[in-house]
Amino acid sequence: MPDPLIITVAAVGAELTREQQPNLPITAEELGLDAEQCAEAGASIYHLHVRDESGAPTMDVDAFAAAKQAIEDRTDLIVQFTSGGAVADAESARLAPLDLRPEMASLTTGTVNFGDDVFSNPIPLVRSFYERMRALDIVPEFEIFEPGMIATADRMYEEAGADHHRHYDFVLGVPGAMPAWGDSVEFLARHLPEDATWSATGIGRHHIPIAEAAIASGGHVRSGFEDVRYFEPGRLAESNGQLIGRVAEMARAAGRPVATPTETRHLLGLREPRGTL
Ligand code: ZN
Repeated sequence: MPDPLIITVAAVGAELTREQQPNLPITAEELGLDAEQCAEAGASIYHLHVRDESGAPTMDVDAFAAAKQAIEDRTDLIVQFTSGGAVADAESARLAPLDLRPEMASLTTGTVNFGDDVFSNPIPLVRSFYERMRALDIVPEFEIFEPGMIATADRMYEEAGADHHRHYDFVLGVPGAMPAWGDSVEFLARHLPEDATWSATGIGRHHIPIAEAAIASGGHVRSGFEDVRYFEPGRLAESNGQLIGRVAEMARAAGRPVATPTETRHLLGLREPRGTL
């Protein structure tokens, strides 16, 4: 019996605008409603970026606090903060929201070209982010844009003498990073530690083949507007919930049950859910 499928929703991101995707949730209230739909559709992790009133990406701590509260008021989803922010954010700004102690946070373990920009993650910065997360008992999700990032994540884990569960997310098809080749998922998964878990997401038109490959090979799936804004060619997705519902259907068709947030906490070794601390 394969593990139930963990579905992560990357609902917002730092790049997409309302002009490109009119259904992008921005305010805390919109994020709470979006999270509720995603939870009903089968998501168990909500990967969170926030925006300011103008819709621009921000690492403002109050905005993260309001969004986290709105999501937790309406759902029992695991809230996973970005620590990447937007490509231009300073280190201190990217780190500040972690003090709100989300259950998880993303951690990109290397620098990578990102379209015409550079997503800058020098090793000392990654190390300091990782130390901060461990000090706050936040489980990182290692964001893997190319294979060297797996090696860096594992080296840091060993250097730190860490013993948390290791969960990785493969982000494939970003221009400048590892492509969503037919064998990318299998290749990366083969180089993970034995007891690790992983999810995968393909950007844009690579989305469905990557989700299929992840479901078939025992991985997990990330979807949502950060990664894909069209439901099918020429047709914008109506909501994050619609995208998550499709992944859940694909899982069931492939014989994988969909994980609840409680099952996901168990699979990822997260601390006890809220309210039982
Ligand atoms: Zn993100």
